[in-house]
Amino acid sequence: MTQQNLFAALRAAFPADLDAIAIEAADSHEPLLYTWRDLDRGTAMIANLIDSLALPPQSRIAAHTDKSVEALMLYLAVLRAGHVYLPLNSAYQAAELDYFIGNAEPAMVVCASRNFGWISKLAFGHRTRHVFTLDDDRRGTLLDRAALHADAQAPAQREASDLAAILYTSGTTGRSKGAMLTHGNLLSNARVLKSLWGWTGGDVLLHALPIFHVHGLFVASHGALLNGSKMIWFNRFDPRAVVARLPDTTVFMGVPTLYTRLLAEPSLTPEACGLMRLFVSGSAPLLTETFDAWRERTGHTLLERYGMSETLMLTSNPYRPESARRSGTVGQALPGVAVRVHDDKGRPLPAGEIGGIEVKGPNVFKGYWRMPEQTADDFTTDLWFKTGDVGTLDADGTLRIVGRSKDLIITGGYNVYPTEVEGYLNELPGVAESAVIGVPHPDFGEAVVAVLVARPGASIDEAALAAALKARIAGFKVPKRVLLRPELPRNAMGKVQKNLLREQYRALFAG
Ligand code: AMP
Repeated sequence: MTQQNLFAALRAAFPADLDAIAIEAADSHEPLLYTWRDLDRGTAMIANLIDSLALPPQSRIAAHTDKSVEALMLYLAVLRAGHVYLPLNSAYQAAELDYFIGNAEPAMVVCASRNFGWISKLAFGHRTRHVFTLDDDRRGTLLDRAALHADAQAPAQREASDLAAILYTSGTTGRSKGAMLTHGNLLSNARVLKSLWGWTGGDVLLHALPIFHVHGLFVASHGALLNGSKMIWFNRFDPRAVVARLPDTTVFMGVPTLYTRLLAEPSLTPEACGLMRLFVSGSAPLLTETFDAWRERTGHTLLERYGMSETLMLTSNPYRPESARRSGTVGQALPGVAVRVHDDKGRPLPAGEIGGIEVKGPNVFKGYWRMPEQTADDFTTDLWFKTGDVGTLDADGTLRIVGRSKDLIITGGYNVYPTEVEGYLNELPGVAESAVIGVPHPDFGEAVVAVLVARPGASIDEAALAAALKARIAGFKVPKRVLLRPELPRNAMGKVQKNLLREQYRALFAG
């Protein structure tokens, strides 16, 4: 049997000089330097600790920790020991954790020491045997106990089809499901991105994303590790501190909100981006306005890509030439990945027509943890995964995302794609951003409602806005009501939580 453990592949990519710097933790009190040897030894010690617990094979190990280099090491150690890593958003509270821990039944949980009281109680209640603590200042029982173990360890033998991680989907709609990802899923995706995005010797990644999500944990970390590249590591995203380190950086990955926050930072200049080779955006739709503003301000073009927890990365705008990157599109299928657009009867649609995005490839997950029916529902009979996203494919295979199928509004029998209406709204003077949702309506079934954030100092007149829209799009797409808010509710990855908006405004047309 050949060794397919993802950790072994990452370890094999470490540079020959193990005393070179692998990670510089840039927002600790004093900068902390980790060599490749430190990563190797630290992950070996944690893996040996895990081994000493004699957990059942393929045990889930849940992490509800603040971001830190040691938290990344915990992830790598879980792979190394051959168990299944389960990252949890550190913002999750008791009700959410009760669900995740009850559903995943982890054998081991690692949490911040300030949360040990309630998390350990909850975990022991779900028959978890071991709860350790890990803080972002290198304290906690996990490292105390790991320090007692040897600093060498042979990575567990794993097959490509063995589980490596379970990622609970972000749950902006419905109940969160655990996407089961294998060593093969993660490694194939990392290898494809390494070559497609031109990772090269001397690259330095600035890592400022959370590590409980596919973007920061997999796309960013695997990219650097598989290339033996140094990371400049931030536990927290502070735009000014990030811009201050961009001159030492060649690759940066962010969600659109990170880019808008960086644009608000006066020190962001072309000089600050002098060494930059690649800025990647994903996880939520990138506004054309941000795409344009970034190019104007820095001289660099954002590369937008599309993916999800269940499939890892699916499509990407071209790496070269930079001028071929198009705003409003998420590019073409990655090598080895197939993307198609079908109607709701499962029939292929011609280029340019809107339908459900379906995908196939070595990156597509094994299914939802303990939800066989849900898994079966989400695959077609010919085994393509139905992403739940709606979009169009151009004749040259370029994909555009129109929205989530669950966000689709059906009003008086007509389909309205929120992203389309949001695009028109965002162009109107005074509008900073918008979210278009459907809410129950006695006549239309659902009514189109726009939730807007106004630009500072702008006043928005509902009637004038509706008139401006009516001149441009069909009447059934024009919002029946326009509501103003100081900001839109977003999750940690910057996705607008339309479920919360729908809930809040569900009685708007009642009675
Ligand atoms: P998650 O599993 O939390 O990563 O969420 C995946 C979802 O985020 C996808 O199904 C899309 O709806 C959305 N998404 C990811 N990347 C993009 C993108 N570049 N543009 C628009 N939506 C995106």
